Amino acid sequence: MPAAHGFFGQDGARPADMTAQARAQLERYPSATFRKATALGARAEDGRFGVTLDTGEELSAAKLVLAFGIIDILPDVPGVAERWGKTVLHCPYCHGYEFGGRKLGVLSTGSLSAHQARIIANWGPTTFFLNGHDEPGQADLEELRTGGVRIERTPVAKLEGEATGLRALQLADRRHVEIDALHVAPGARLASPIAGQLGCVLDDKPSGPLIRVDSSMMTTVPGVYAAGDTVRWAGNAMLAAAADRFGGIDVLVNNAGLVYLGAVEEGEDSEVRKLFEANVFGLAAMLRAALPGMRARGSGTVVNLSSASGLVAYPGLGYYSASKFAVEGLTEALWQEVEPLGIKVILVEPGAFRTGINARSPRAPSNPACAPAATEMLGFLESAGDTVCRGDPERAAAVLSRAVETGDAPHRLILGSDAYAGVTGKLDAMGAEYAQWKAVSESTDFPA
Ligand SMILES: Cc1cc2nc3c(=O)[nH]c(=O)nc-3n(C[C@H](O)[C@H](O)[C@H](O)COP(=O)(O)OP(=O)(O)OC[C@H]3O[C@@H](n4cnc5c(N)ncnc54)[C@H](O)[C@@H]3O)c2cc1C
Repeated sequence: MPAAHGFFGQDGARPADMTAQARAQLERYPSATFRKATALGARAEDGRFGVTLDTGEELSAAKLVLAFGIIDILPDVPGVAERWGKTVLHCPYCHGYEFGGRKLGVLSTGSLSAHQARIIANWGPTTFFLNGHDEPGQADLEELRTGGVRIERTPVAKLEGEATGLRALQLADRRHVEIDALHVAPGARLASPIAGQLGCVLDDKPSGPLIRVDSSMMTTVPGVYAAGDTVRWAGNAMLAAAADRFGGIDVLVNNAGLVYLGAVEEGEDSEVRKLFEANVFGLAAMLRAALPGMRARGSGTVVNLSSASGLVAYPGLGYYSASKFAVEGLTEALWQEVEPLGIKVILVEPGAFRTGINARSPRAPSNPACAPAATEMLGFLESAGDTVCRGDPERAAAVLSRAVETGDAPHRLILGSDAYAGVTGKLDAMGAEYAQWKAVSESTDFPA
């Protein structure tokens, strides 16, 4: 019997027991009644909603909550369906740990599967089975290579193993690849046509259609609400439950980021694009996802992690600085746009903190002829290691958490004495240089 994971307080619980417990708790309320039936259809009538059950019963309600879930559409490979949820898995956050260190596979179902394979590779040696789907793009191939993922291009004929266990994938050319757990991102369809019958707007997502809701979980039809997997392909019961219970995100911390080291001339296009993808486009995508809910509620806090390098650039860190300068510009515009709507925005500019990020970061092929200053700077960073960083990540986290809780924070918050000295020193130097050239700057105006 499968067990749930990744749901705080319910780890290892049987899904049927979780449902039974939730029902028992609800049944204690005199206003709740359970019907063991399938809802065949629903319609709006005279300001109320009529629902037809397969028992023949007709119900009438002032409000409706659609919580009928989704139906997974699995790839048509013999052996997948009977192992679904046991050794064929959908989510690394739910089941990654349980198969950690074992032989893992990812069966491609489309363009997002390469990213899935990259994530799964954090859990163990991974083979990515293209199974007739397109070859990954250059950037994905590079990521898979970095993660040590092996790519198998021959189509999969079937899965093999005792009962619901998995031993190997047999390929079309009769070779076998030993695999203990296979990850698959299935397509999905809504489990019932009722949302469509009521006229609710559906949005096409990569996994399939989902019901559109606002921050109070109301669909586009007033009085009809939707919850769980019907509105959000969470793939995780806790996320589904949290989004429904809390109705949205109160605090967005855009902390994810990459560093890329190298002189400007040395930069490799794919690495530079990956850097901007994470530091700029990823951050912007998170903003676009969280802001509608915050705006609807008239409250929320956005914390964008920039860097002292978002104001001061150093040789060898040009691309990193460029991405953080972009974060500075975007965030400065953002707070002017959303603060009148009740949303607080904090732009954090840390200096060097002991996170070990430089040692983990990709580095352009080094050619001292390109920029001796960059070679010198990167050599210094490498030999000094983390000891050159005076910043303590735990102290920074405490400052940020206090800033979010109290709301007492400036637009721009510098963290670290090195950052403070660097940024204020640059502002002084910039001010002095601008002042020195003021007459030339103003000489280009039309005469008054
Ligand atoms: C293989 C697998 C493993 C998973 N493992 C985990 C895990 O370990 N941890 C985790 O957090 N999440 C896990 N998930 C995800 C989790 O199961 C879902 O996110 C969660 O169940 C969504 O809850 P829901 O109430 O929206 O939908 P469901 O749980 O799908 O509930 C919908 C209910 O509505 C009923 N229904 C459908 N149509 C009708 C109708 N017309 N009339 C009446 N009733 C209807 C269905 O029978 C069903 O009982 C897993 C998912 C899969 C596929």
